[in-house]
Amino acid sequence: MRLSLVVPCFNEEAVLARFHEVVREETAGIAEEVELVFVDDGSRDGTLELLKKIAGQDPEAKYVSLSRNFGKESAILAGLKRASGDAVIILDADLQHPPALLGRMVDLHKQGFDQVIAQRDREGDKKFRSLVSKTYYKLINRLVDVELVDGVGDFRLLSRRAVDALLEMPEYNRFSKGLFAWIGFDSVTFNYRNAVREAGETKWSFRRLLDYGVDSLLSFNNKPLRMAIYLGFLFFSISFAYMMWLIVRTMVSGDTTPGYVTTIAAIVGIGGLQMFTVGVIGEYVGRIYYESKQRPHYLVKETESGPLRHQSDFL
Ligand code: UDP
Ligand code: MG
Repeated sequence: MRLSLVVPCFNEEAVLARFHEVVREETAGIAEEVELVFVDDGSRDGTLELLKKIAGQDPEAKYVSLSRNFGKESAILAGLKRASGDAVIILDADLQHPPALLGRMVDLHKQGFDQVIAQRDREGDKKFRSLVSKTYYKLINRLVDVELVDGVGDFRLLSRRAVDALLEMPEYNRFSKGLFAWIGFDSVTFNYRNAVREAGETKWSFRRLLDYGVDSLLSFNNKPLRMAIYLGFLFFSISFAYMMWLIVRTMVSGDTTPGYVTTIAAIVGIGGLQMFTVGVIGEYVGRIYYESKQRPHYLVKETESGPLRHQSDFL
């Protein structure tokens, strides 16, 4: 069996050498061939130089260097495209995905699973962040069509046919957690202890997490759009009923109340709702805009065989 490891790297000069060493140690003998596919996601530090060095020493190490930072999802896609193995494992460069688990993942794959998913516990996470995550998953699973699980991410093994299935999904907005769940196939999940980052720092700011949450909501179906319709209808019904009541009351008692507060409240409430709805619609329109441009997900600058002349030379 030929195994490929896909490793997205963005400014990882601090850990790469150690990563390579540990991975080579842990993968010795778990498959006939173990190929390493590093993707330099437009790093601005010495990552590329290190990758060149690694590729120079290790004949089964390859790298793809992107023209700029395209984000982890795109980097993974480039890596999957490049990987030639019968099975592919995606793992982070920062050693938070323990390479010691790779053997076990291959074993499980050999038992017939197309996806072997590593689920991390939230050990070492800030209390607040795990609480936010928990609530987020409760909410999200009511809205999206596939089941999203907490602690499950890109760290997984995919069989060749699962990789091919992913590569066949051309959408520009890639919410990979959802795509993994969407393709299906037989999968198995096992738990592991979350390791702390060995060096360097996390690229996930709070803002980025928030964007991720919105993406996950909107990249699956039009339920939020539907929700906006219901919400709008609800508000309309309430204000309509209230108006009726006001008219009846005025007719019965005869006095016209100033009603300043209620007027303002209604304007603000409905105005807010409209903004929300327009925002939801706008998000979808924005997505259509991006999809319709049909731009590539990434551009390759060079690989271990040298600079790229034409993008089409990359497979
Ligand atoms: N990464 C990437 N492009 C990005 C951001 C991150 O390729 O724009 C890589 C990064 O080098 C690492 C992995 O994705 O190998 C996970 O990133 P990070 O450790 O920052 O995320 P966390 O572990 O904190 O979720
Ligand atoms: Mg990390």
